Amino acid sequence: TLPVANITTRTTCPYCGVGCGVLATPQPDGSVAIAGDPEHPANLGRLCSKGSALGETLGLEGRLLYPESDGVRVTWDVALERVANTFKRTINAFGPNSVAFYGSGQLLTEDYYVANKLMKGFIGSGNMDTNSRLCMASSVAGHKRAFGSDTVPGNYEDLELADLVVLVGSNLGWCHPVLYQRIVKAKAERPDMRVVLIDPRRTVSADIADLHLAVQSDGDSALFVGLLAHLANAGIAAPDFVIDHTSGVDAALLIAEDWDLARVAAVTGLAEKAIALFYDWFARTEKAVTVYSQGVNQSASGTDKVNAIINCHLLTGRIGRPGMGPFSVTGQPNAMGGREVGGLANTLAAHMDFTPDAIERVGRFWGSDSIATEPGLKAVDLFAAMGRGEIKAVWIMATNPVDSMPEADMVRAALAVCPFVVVSDMTGSTDTGVTAHVRLPAAGWGEKDGTVTNSERRISRQRPFLTLPGQARPDWWLIKEVAQRMGFVDAFSYANPGEIFAEHAALTAFENDGSRDLDLSGLLDADYASLPPTQWPVRRKPRARMFGDGQFFTPDGKARFVPVLPPPPFAPPPGRFILNTGRVRDHWHTMTRTGKTARLSAHYAEPFVEVHPTDAARLNIHRATLVRLSNRHGSAIVRALVTDRQRRGHLFVPMHWTDQFASNGRIDALVAAKVDPVSGQPALKMAEVHAEPL
Ligand code: SF4
Repeated sequence: TLPVANITTRTTCPYCGVGCGVLATPQPDGSVAIAGDPEHPANLGRLCSKGSALGETLGLEGRLLYPESDGVRVTWDVALERVANTFKRTINAFGPNSVAFYGSGQLLTEDYYVANKLMKGFIGSGNMDTNSRLCMASSVAGHKRAFGSDTVPGNYEDLELADLVVLVGSNLGWCHPVLYQRIVKAKAERPDMRVVLIDPRRTVSADIADLHLAVQSDGDSALFVGLLAHLANAGIAAPDFVIDHTSGVDAALLIAEDWDLARVAAVTGLAEKAIALFYDWFARTEKAVTVYSQGVNQSASGTDKVNAIINCHLLTGRIGRPGMGPFSVTGQPNAMGGREVGGLANTLAAHMDFTPDAIERVGRFWGSDSIATEPGLKAVDLFAAMGRGEIKAVWIMATNPVDSMPEADMVRAALAVCPFVVVSDMTGSTDTGVTAHVRLPAAGWGEKDGTVTNSERRISRQRPFLTLPGQARPDWWLIKEVAQRMGFVDAFSYANPGEIFAEHAALTAFENDGSRDLDLSGLLDADYASLPPTQWPVRRKPRARMFGDGQFFTPDGKARFVPVLPPPPFAPPPGRFILNTGRVRDHWHTMTRTGKTARLSAHYAEPFVEVHPTDAARLNIHRATLVRLSNRHGSAIVRALVTDRQRRGHLFVPMHWTDQFASNGRIDALVAAKVDPVSGQPALKMAEVHAEPL
């Protein structure tokens, strides 16, 4: 019966991890009016440029509308049979670890749940990873080391209640604009509120910063280890909290005490005076929130950086109370929901890991005796294994690794040698989609029905307001159809996403005596259709903050300090630059949606490289000069944007452009596949490149 003109649907934005509520109203002329939902707690009616342009991105141009096998349109039966039979044959011949799923923070929780259940529960392999590996894995690992669980302690309101907001590796102004707007408003109302930006670039977020620390790449570990020492030396520690609710402080301080101002300055490239000012503000401000994002996570020492930040909040007891705490903001709309169902290769399900107890419990809940018993391959390892011929069948869902993975040309080469590649996507010919043997048309935003979880643990509904075009189907349906054709009929007999959500909620509550953070038992009888935005855990009632009671999910109930040894400063060889990558304000990922509207492309129409004026002069690069960036992994040609927002010796190139939109613009082809040893997250913020004018 969809769409119905002038009937408004309450849904959620499909872009960033702020998770804004959206009101979508189909118009008699076929267009869709978009407005912010004034009742959604994340945005209270606001939308950013991307969210407000959603109505312009709903056209069918470029859509994959029919199943295809070897480039030929086929029926759903033919496509699904081929996928199921090929996966079955491959598993029979080479074992369950010869196949893999690679998912996305764009999937809804219900899609993610069914994919994870099929791979880990019934195929019996841990090889279900996701592009959230590129986004949040270091925060997940840091949370688990400190809290014993992957728990974000605070909520968005804390950013407004804080007297000091520290933004680390986060261009909130462009990447989480509505959250940024909330801080701008709070600061306007309380001018004494301070903002510190820690970022090698003077991004737009510096506009509200009282202090910008243009830290050397990966210098943030040293900055926070030095802060820990300063807090201890200045007597700012909260001794009762530290003694009663934490462990390991002495080991963390033992390393930190060697990091005085001079040493921190040497590694970070910052002036001692500026560091001292930041330390003084942090020490003297009880209500302090440290917001961190990809500049922290996308690093070869990302997990340590997360723990260096958390250590400072544990030492001061500033966690789980209004206006204070470490706060990881997720990049994608449902990176959190994917983590919740176990969508990372090193997690099993419902925030349970591959422990003997959890394997037995989840296997019993799912009624499966073939459940995976060990973690699978993380993204970078997964594509490397594919390149070696070890992964013989892969299903890539709603993501574009040929553009977004580090050493992206290697990923393309790996897919070219993989005997069987399935891509399910709403877009027809992404750089990944063209490598597929079978392409499955997936439903997109406005057509899909399910839930997402935003950065403050808030579950919100995405609801459909458009008819499914062509033969597109929801991702959960595709996966369950393949599962049933593989012989897992009863376990995947879902009729709708509400049934899947109910099963997910039941698993979070299953034999959960309070020792697991994720508990949705309060939603078991909820009306899925009208589910309001709800923060978890939801045992009896939602909880806005975690850990305010000093209880953590470690075996002894105490939070753990993690000793962090900062890495040495990174200096590229002479003549090379440090390349940083990231987002621009008006595009999302590989532009399959935002690239459809001229309004969003008006901000930046083509890929560019930010270069400092001194470096530009030395290389004879002028404004708008075409510049070739290259290293042993690949090359890109982008236009120069000469600006002193950039540090000398550093370059910045946005991540969005693909072969579809700008040949030679795929910047992740130049990023080495170096990963954090704990989280497996790639260091997408730091590559070594050569630059020359064309
Ligand atoms: Fe969408 Fe993020 Fe913008 Fe909100 S801030 S409208 S969730 S892109």
